[in-house]
Amino acid sequence: MPKRIETVVFHDSSTPVLGDVQKAGSVVVTNFDTLLNQARANALWPLTFGLACCAIEMMASVASRFDLARFGSEAFRATPRQADVMIIAGRLSKKMAPVLRQIYDQMPEPKWVISMGACASSGGVYNNYAIVQGADQVVPVDVYVPGCPPSPDALIYAVMKLQQKIKHNKFGKLIELKPRTLEEESA
Ligand code: SF4
Repeated sequence: MPKRIETVVFHDSSTPVLGDVQKAGSVVVTNFDTLLNQARANALWPLTFGLACCAIEMMASVASRFDLARFGSEAFRATPRQADVMIIAGRLSKKMAPVLRQIYDQMPEPKWVISMGACASSGGVYNNYAIVQGADQVVPVDVYVPGCPPSPDALIYAVMKLQQKIKHNKFGKLIELKPRTLEEESA
């Protein structure tokens, strides 16, 4: 298979012609995975979804004092079809578990999950028949946030850890989406 090199060219308003190096445009060479991971990691849109008291801390994380917008995650979406990350903020009851799973299934790939707080991660103080003893029994969890309640800073730190994780992803399947070479076209 022929070796493939991806070249990405950025420009600003002073370089109206994309990729025109003669007009002092900047040139960056990278691979496609890195570019895609950067875009995904820095625009993680959370689902508007709160289960209990932890949700108050989640709301505080987007307020001006903590300002989750600095990390590109302030756009909470009201539909799972536009969301990238589900933040399970609060205790998950057994009655709610199938609903949570359905909402998770409605989110498009790739998607991630943050389990926020002791209740979501392990049942917390609710060690009883009504509460799921860990949201990872229902959906795959990428990052766990400890505490009761975790502070907004802790949630922001979890988003940063998720960003790190995404930036190391390898999207092997995207190889199938690469355009065909001229030789393949003419064959
Ligand atoms: S971890 Fe604490 S703050 Fe969060 S839902 Fe449980 S009891 Fe409430």
